[in-house]
Amino acid sequence: MSEPRRLVVALDGPGSSGKSSVGAAAARRLGYRFCDTGLLYRAVTWLAIERSVDLGDVNRLAALGGEVGLAPDEEGRLSRVIVGGCDVTEQVRTAAIDERVSDVARVAEVRAALLPRQRAIAAEGGIIMAGRDIGTVVLPDADLKLFLDASIEERARRRAAERGLEPGEPAARQILAELRRRDRIDSTRAVAPLRAAPAAVRIVTDGLTFEETVETVVAAIRRTEAGD
Ligand code: C5P
Repeated sequence: MSEPRRLVVALDGPGSSGKSSVGAAAARRLGYRFCDTGLLYRAVTWLAIERSVDLGDVNRLAALGGEVGLAPDEEGRLSRVIVGGCDVTEQVRTAAIDERVSDVARVAEVRAALLPRQRAIAAEGGIIMAGRDIGTVVLPDADLKLFLDASIEERARRRAAERGLEPGEPAARQILAELRRRDRIDSTRAVAPLRAAPAAVRIVTDGLTFEETVETVVAAIRRTEAGD
């Protein structure tokens, strides 16, 4: 029997839809690489704050794109954020970055700077690449396009649990408001808005366990590998 084809898989969806945890688990099971492109936008945002770069200074902002990189973790996922040789992964996942990242990601020059980086990462195949515009803009020729979705309440609940918050507490309510704001900016921006590609398989995860969602993603990839 011939080896299964090693695909390029685009995995898009809104914030906290589970793209990175589900995508990483599915990739591990399939022996694929995994790349979470949101980390690149988060890294540029972190660096812009560190250097006090004005959001209106689009050329300086875009130049920061050349200074950020991703490195594999112990399991081979591209989940470590490297800036100037330092690992800043923890720093880019904070609420302060959540608050600003969509305003950086809407800048066309920033997106243009990060586009070739993402394509280069995907070029050798055998990868699940997660983001907002992977199936529509970054990898329009991906072998398989998946769109992971969940209601905003479910996504906010998951993000709050991840941060160790109780459902009713103010910080958890703040997460819901923040996700709503990011959804709006990400899906209405002029360049590469959050959108399912026409051919994308939509997977709604409300009511699915993590394991069931991973299984659904793995099954979709295996079917495509087999040429179905
Ligand atoms: O997925 P994550 O929440 O880490 O992404 C952070 C932000 O980066 C998103 O809200 C979005 O504004 C931006 N992003 C994007 N395009 C991608 C990935 C992320 O615009 N491919």
